[in-house]
Amino acid sequence: KIVASSADKNFSYLPDCSDLGIPDNADYVYICENETINGTAYHTLPNTKGKVLVADQSSLFLSRPCDVSKYGLIWAGVQKNVGPAGMSIVIIREDLIREDLPEFVPTYLRYKTHADADSLYNTPNCWSIYCCGKVFQNLLANGGLEAMAQRNEEKAAVLYGFLDRSKFFTAAVRKEDRSYMNVPFVSPSKEQDAEVAASAKAAGFDNLKGHKSVGGLRASIYNAMPKEGVEALVDFLKKYEAEHT
Ligand SMILES: *Cc1c(COP(=O)(O)O)cnc(C)c1O
Repeated sequence: KIVASSADKNFSYLPDCSDLGIPDNADYVYICENETINGTAYHTLPNTKGKVLVADQSSLFLSRPCDVSKYGLIWAGVQKNVGPAGMSIVIIREDLIREDLPEFVPTYLRYKTHADADSLYNTPNCWSIYCCGKVFQNLLANGGLEAMAQRNEEKAAVLYGFLDRSKFFTAAVRKEDRSYMNVPFVSPSKEQDAEVAASAKAAGFDNLKGHKSVGGLRASIYNAMPKEGVEALVDFLKKYEAEHT
């Protein structure tokens, strides 16, 4: 059951989630905490009215501090901010690791299977785990998640600041709901969007094309993207604007 949606405005904002019509018999409330296609992120968690909060944090995991006690279950594919594709991290409240599941739930899809086996029920993706460990050490050596959040906010501010001042490019999302990881924007036309993406690619800025389902342009500036990379992109876009207006 969808209890809140921003489909009316192309998912360019997050709905007010302070007083949702959550059914009494709901087992949990699910959010996608950072949505990469439209570039929205929850900066305040929804009021779940006592229900368990379940969050897909794939695209903002380790980008900022997180009070895990507010969630029943967090999962994240590691491939955005943590390590090579092929592994997910799950943080689950112990009382939700249940035995009393319907019989049809396969062994592998039971969290208890993995919890009881110390996540070694099958041979895990050792290479990805090794790389994730390197990333954790690097985060800890560089001020942890507080410092990471500050770097990410600064990075995003450079790009959003430019987009908000630009008379050519427009950021797609309402200010208070913007993602610090994925920044979608548009130029004055679809044709121009394609032109910008192609020129950017030629100048060394790859993957600026928006998601295929929405078009436009999108800069993904995950943890690994340094501020200098964002500044270089802004310089490019500034120059492009000057040459095309
Ligand atoms: C990236 C992402 C996924 C996983 O998508 P892949 O295509 O496997 O990379 C799932 N949920 C969210 C929120 C994501 O950002």
